[in-house]
Amino acid sequence: MGQTLIVHSPLSLAHETGPRYIEAKSRYAAIINALRQAGLLTKDTEWVSSPGAEKWLFLCHDREYVRLVKESCEALRDGEVADLRTGDVKISHESYAAALAMVGGAIHAIDAIMEGQFRNAFLVARPPGHHAERARGMGFCLFNTVAIAARYLQREYGLKRIAIIDWDVHHGNGTEKEFADDKGVYYFSTHQEGGYPGTGDEGFHGKSKNICNHLIAPGPEARGALMTYYREELPAAMDVFRPQFVLISCGFDAHRLDPIASLTLETEDYGVLTKCVRSIAEKWCDGRLLSVLEGGYDLDVIAQASVLHVRELSL
Ligand SMILES: [Zn+2]
Repeated sequence: MGQTLIVHSPLSLAHETGPRYIEAKSRYAAIINALRQAGLLTKDTEWVSSPGAEKWLFLCHDREYVRLVKESCEALRDGEVADLRTGDVKISHESYAAALAMVGGAIHAIDAIMEGQFRNAFLVARPPGHHAERARGMGFCLFNTVAIAARYLQREYGLKRIAIIDWDVHHGNGTEKEFADDKGVYYFSTHQEGGYPGTGDEGFHGKSKNICNHLIAPGPEARGALMTYYREELPAAMDVFRPQFVLISCGFDAHRLDPIASLTLETEDYGVLTKCVRSIAEKWCDGRLLSVLEGGYDLDVIAQASVLHVRELSL
């Protein structure tokens, strides 16, 4: 069995967002180059994804919304960039295909893990997904890849307990909304107080106490507070929930150098976070874990943090 599968698609480079836009294709290139240079992306660990079956989108998205995204992208000329009508997402001609390739990649990774070919996987997802709701793309996200992955695990593998751990600095409003009434999915998120998109109240726990939100206030205490949630509270919550599969919404934007957020993680902290979550997967589900890239906008940080993340997954 291989340890860590790395899934990505060059279609991420064709998802154009225009000049001086922070969610840029250079993010994908920085991560892929770093993983290759570190010797982690090899013919044995790499899987290049192509657009998956459209039907999987409907696990978490309305048909009309899927049609809106598809037609809005198709209507654009090569090189043209526009705003998706539902929110703050830039799209180009290939954006629909790129987002569909992320969903196809997640499904391939899950199959590879469930069939025992790999222990875990990292999907270098661009566009990201955790802000996307059933009928609304927003926050750089078109389709909610991690939510679709959880629904796929329920539907195709009959799993009853799936954990989604979201350490992106922003709250995954789309993911929370999808699973707020579903006791089969435990959603755990740490996010910056007062940050985009303004959701993720600590007082909201979902119908079956399956939602756990932690707001982190910017300042000198932020780093310690965030890390403690993963070292102590998350393992305790997972001892009760006992996940059969662990998904990570892996944003690198809680780093102190991130240009759009104000928390203070150091690069090495992403290795520690990965270790915490990998330990949970090992304790409860034979290490079965899929990590899906979300945000992170400092190119050096996301490159180095991705290397640490994959190294820690590969141990
Ligand atoms: Zn983010």
